[in-house]
Amino acid sequence: MTIGLKKGQRAVVTGGAGFIGSHLCERLIERGLSVTCVDNLSTGRIANLDALADEERFTLLRADVTEPFSVEGPVHHVVHLASPASPLDYLALPLETLRVGSAGTENALRLAVAHGARFVVASTSEIYGDPAEHPQSESYWGNVNPIGPRSVYDEAKRFTEALTAAYARTLGADTGIARLFNSYGPRMRRDDGRVVPTFIDQALAGLPLTINGSGAQTRSLCYVEDTVRGLMALMDSSFPGPVNIGATGEMTVRQIAEAIAALAGVELRTEFRAPAEDEPGRRCPDIETARTKLGWKPEVPLAEGLKRTLLWWESTYPRDMAHDGV
Ligand code: NAD
Repeated sequence: MTIGLKKGQRAVVTGGAGFIGSHLCERLIERGLSVTCVDNLSTGRIANLDALADEERFTLLRADVTEPFSVEGPVHHVVHLASPASPLDYLALPLETLRVGSAGTENALRLAVAHGARFVVASTSEIYGDPAEHPQSESYWGNVNPIGPRSVYDEAKRFTEALTAAYARTLGADTGIARLFNSYGPRMRRDDGRVVPTFIDQALAGLPLTINGSGAQTRSLCYVEDTVRGLMALMDSSFPGPVNIGATGEMTVRQIAEAIAALAGVELRTEFRAPAEDEPGRRCPDIETARTKLGWKPEVPLAEGLKRTLLWWESTYPRDMAHDGV
């Protein structure tokens, strides 16, 4: 039976104080749901929830989801986003990342099953590893180094998917797996090491933009509001996925640097550094499944999304405090 997304329901959002989670909590409140955010603030921030501080239908439960947790009252949706997500974060928190993907996912699944709720989980394009197929469709099984440094994230997410599929198969859990590709937008941390915040920070500070490797590696950047609409479309369906949620405008890292420098109104200066280990060479989703099963596609053009991000950045971070690079 499809639960759907309806006014008056309650959603539990793990990782709701993070970049994507905080936007999702706001959109769910706008749709008339009550939201319980479960977060240990390891990579998220209370400030991300400022807009919800006085909202009666919003509750923050400070808890580590790798420990069993419960939520009072009816729960109609569990959205499991808790996990370090940027390479700097998961490389600094390798064991925590594996635990939140394994024990954390099982605790979130148990909560959903206990309440008969729909469970939607954020997996990642990283499960495709360094892909040998382009663009990546959901039928591609990936090319992951299981013992490399990035494996703590990639394999945690692959386990997350396996566990979610097993809960659906053996317990009849109502589950949906979203494979998110690179998202960007307001509330990214300036020190999280991902390409957009790093370049914006450096461009606004008049520093050279630091590029790992040749800059020919590609990314497809999806504005966070589009990502959140994709997650909500999956919550609103009974589709099990996996479904790619991402933008299809594949760009080289060098082109992203050029676009950000142009929008910031600065001359592009670059500094090249050693390539990151096991960094994927190409990244671009096939989003046919999302189009046909969820009626979803990204809508915010890159120039518009970057403009909004730059505006937010300037109003949030003082210019004289830029950090130094990826
Ligand atoms: P984020 O780091 O901003 O948010 C993650 C949140 O999870 C943080 O608030 C953090 O405090 C919380 N968290 C981490 N471990 C926890 C634990 N053990 N218990 C409770 N809370 C915990 O990251 P994000 O960019 O918002 O990513 C959200 C989700 O989307 C992640 O699962 C990530 O893997 C996935 N994802 C993100 C992207 C992207 O481009 N941002 C791409 C693919 C997948």
